[in-house]
Amino acid sequence: MTFRVLTAELSHETNTFSRRLTNAQSFKDRYVLIGEEAIAARGEASTELAGFLDASRNYGWQIEHVLSAAAGPSGKVERAAFDWLCDPIVAAVERGRFDGILLALHGAMVLDFCEDGDGEILRRIRAAFRHEIPIAITLDPHANVGREMCSLAEIIVSFRTYPHVDMRETGRRAGAILQRTMTSEVKPRTIRVSRPMLEETNGGRTDAGPMIARLAAAKDYEERADVFAVSINAGFASTDVADVGPTVLVTGQGNFDEHTAFADTLADDIWARRHEVLNDYLTVEAAADIAAGFDSRQGPLVIADYADNPGAGGYGDSTNLLGALLEAGVKDACFGPMVDGEAVATLQNAKVGEQIRLAVGGKTDAAFGGGPLILEGELVSISDGHFVGDGPILGGLHRSYGPTAVLRVDGFEILIVTIAQQMLDLQQFRSFGIEPESKRVIALKSMQHFRAAFEPIAGKVIVCDSGALCTLDYKRMPYRNVPRPIFPLDEDIA
Ligand SMILES: [Zn+2]
Repeated sequence: MTFRVLTAELSHETNTFSRRLTNAQSFKDRYVLIGEEAIAARGEASTELAGFLDASRNYGWQIEHVLSAAAGPSGKVERAAFDWLCDPIVAAVERGRFDGILLALHGAMVLDFCEDGDGEILRRIRAAFRHEIPIAITLDPHANVGREMCSLAEIIVSFRTYPHVDMRETGRRAGAILQRTMTSEVKPRTIRVSRPMLEETNGGRTDAGPMIARLAAAKDYEERADVFAVSINAGFASTDVADVGPTVLVTGQGNFDEHTAFADTLADDIWARRHEVLNDYLTVEAAADIAAGFDSRQGPLVIADYADNPGAGGYGDSTNLLGALLEAGVKDACFGPMVDGEAVATLQNAKVGEQIRLAVGGKTDAAFGGGPLILEGELVSISDGHFVGDGPILGGLHRSYGPTAVLRVDGFEILIVTIAQQMLDLQQFRSFGIEPESKRVIALKSMQHFRAAFEPIAGKVIVCDSGALCTLDYKRMPYRNVPRPIFPLDEDIA
């Protein structure tokens, strides 16, 4: 029997503290790809869609892929943008006679009218059914998974890597469980357990630390005949919602008391080890000190600004780290990206090779990461900001920074862009004429994902907290909706 399966990718990680709301243009800036266009762009890359297509070939499905859309992490998604992307999926469900639904979501989407954006997608789809059909979803482990999401999707499978490099495999795994459900071989549902924390302390790092053993235990438990997937979500702390925080999910059947007891052992471990921090979060001054004296014979020093990570909704225009590096006289270095469309627009009016003085960065909210820096340097290049990744995360995928310029200040190349992007791939420097391997110091904006492409070329990696929007100093953030007490905001639970 040939099953008909609807697929779609609709993803947003919402930082509810961001002043920048997410609208239709925010999605267009990242990608909005319809049907075959999405398959052509993403069908063979490291994406959930590629895994869905693998499953479709394995099981001989007839699929209708509605769309693939994502915006860079930013503020709440406006209703008009959400409806614009969700309506075609719901309309396809109403029109088609599907046997199953397979969706790639993020799991931390918040709307300007609803705390649980992913749950809202599922609610609308369920409401459009003529008869009950199974829904399988994949999630980014930086998901805040609420009870309702678990009741609306029978099958939930999260990535198992951070840096995330297993999107395709995750798509394939979700597809395999959906197939067994459609044939009535199994009848899964998903349970969740959580602990009162904003997020797993190390953000779910899987290259080091306690998550390695947790994932091994999860894989062992998946060997049981009545268990189809165990997902460990680190949560996403910059989302001020009731269902914030880490969760352990079991998608299975049979004895759910046992499944819950198993999930509790992992959640207890997350809770018990909440003080074990893997990174040493330096001040920008300490990072600049290390950079000033760094011997790069084994490769460049890579400095990650954790707090201004555009991949978690940071504005990307924090100047504290760049200012400290310039102040310390660090040369033979590169920095990127600095998100400042206004500065790029000014630079576009200049000639390549010209010396220019202008204010860069710090324009969104100086309280988080510092105010504008007055820089004087040589304009090295101007471009449209387009690049194609070649690393483990973005390999083969097209992205754009929008209008982009490179400014060289005293031997320091600064990549200034219009559209915020986390630094994930060497091509995000190389495509603009900056050769990261040849530098003594590489400063970039990312929490953990940069490691996939930059660790192999690094002599040493350090991480700093510039005090930007994704600072680890959570007490600075005006939380109102998370349940209290919660770690690490409240002393009585610390
Ligand atoms: Zn993530």
